[in-house]
Amino acid sequence: MILSEKAKNICPSLTLAITAKAKQMAKEGLDVISFGAGEPDFNTPKNIREAAVKAIDLGLTRYTPASGITELKQAIIDKFKRDNNLSYTPNQIIISTGAKQCLANVFQAILNPGDEVLIPTPYWVSYPELVRLSDGVPVFVECEAEENFKYTLKALEKAITPKTKSIVINSPNNPTGAIYNKEELLAISEFAKKYNLLIISDEIYEKLTYGHNIHISISSLSEDAYKRTIVINGVSKSYAMTGWRIGYAAGDEDIIKLMSSVQSHTTSNPTSIAQYAALEALTGPQDELCTMVKEFEKRRNYMVSRINSIKNLSCINAQGAFYIMLNISAFYGKEIGGSIINNSTEFADALLSKEKVAVIPGIAFGLDEYVRLSYATSMTQIEVGLNRIESFVSNM
Ligand code: PMP
Ligand code: GLU
Repeated sequence: MILSEKAKNICPSLTLAITAKAKQMAKEGLDVISFGAGEPDFNTPKNIREAAVKAIDLGLTRYTPASGITELKQAIIDKFKRDNNLSYTPNQIIISTGAKQCLANVFQAILNPGDEVLIPTPYWVSYPELVRLSDGVPVFVECEAEENFKYTLKALEKAITPKTKSIVINSPNNPTGAIYNKEELLAISEFAKKYNLLIISDEIYEKLTYGHNIHISISSLSEDAYKRTIVINGVSKSYAMTGWRIGYAAGDEDIIKLMSSVQSHTTSNPTSIAQYAALEALTGPQDELCTMVKEFEKRRNYMVSRINSIKNLSCINAQGAFYIMLNISAFYGKEIGGSIINNSTEFADALLSKEKVAVIPGIAFGLDEYVRLSYATSMTQIEVGLNRIESFVSNM
């Protein structure tokens, strides 16, 4: 049987694969520490869980409109106004099965075969594959360490072609934790205007910013930026709701309409119960969110200082999200347990089999000199995991 060439050429999500492997090892009784997926270790706050139970008891368990319930759309509109000073109407909003489905929908809605999408390297693992699934072409824009792995106009100008349709921006960034400031966002919005590009702004880590760093939505910078931006967001990261699968997108009415049309055939509405839970997340008390952010910041500070104290290891000092990129290039060409380490996959494999510590190879994000550690795991796990990493590298 000849199966789909397009599907065969897609790499399965490495972040999810490694996380599943680590969870399976733990289930088998192995003492594994997982720095794998970006998934808060906290339970979903009680008020949100209770809202879901209430929705079940009230029988709110049927199909909803494909693009989501009116009440949640209104809560999302209020959130955009409150947090980002952005004004939308309900037909500019779609609620989907995670921000991931919003991204899948938007590429389906805007791309024709061969259309190019600018993606910053390092990038979140799913962007290139989602573009390919929509017959688009991902164009990788190298972002340099000296620029904190953010876009520069020079690199963007080099990547532009007559086929460029759109630019992806992800701030706070997965995997680097970088946050774009207002001037940088203005420059990108001017660039998008110059070449008439749609901006896909993935703001899923909006609430996870540390120190004096603040999140600004590129869409809020001008009338033109507002018109050409589709904002992607969701409740997975901010409210410890990864399994509930609720994301949302906002932007141009015609694009949202096409996204809704696509979604009406692929999944229909996102789970009704999860939508009521998300409604409580956005409209209920926000104190648990603040507690989680404080805890993430504490962990980030600990990790950065601990890693920098280990010989030959260094890391990117993240400003937001919950990831640390560990530079492991000093160990390339060195031997561990009889094999030579030459890339991030070999490093991650050896670390998992020797020390039972799961990390994501940087190659998943287009950056092979690094591995990614998520600090959405407890402080105790972080301490033990870093002890093991220290012992692993000191044996090389
Ligand atoms: N964008 C980025 C940058 C992410 O890290 C994630 C994490 N899964 C998503 C989008 C999708 O989030 P979700 O589908 O859980 O809403
Ligand atoms: N976004 C998270 C990560 O990068 C979850 C896994 C995924 O959706 O790929 O680890």
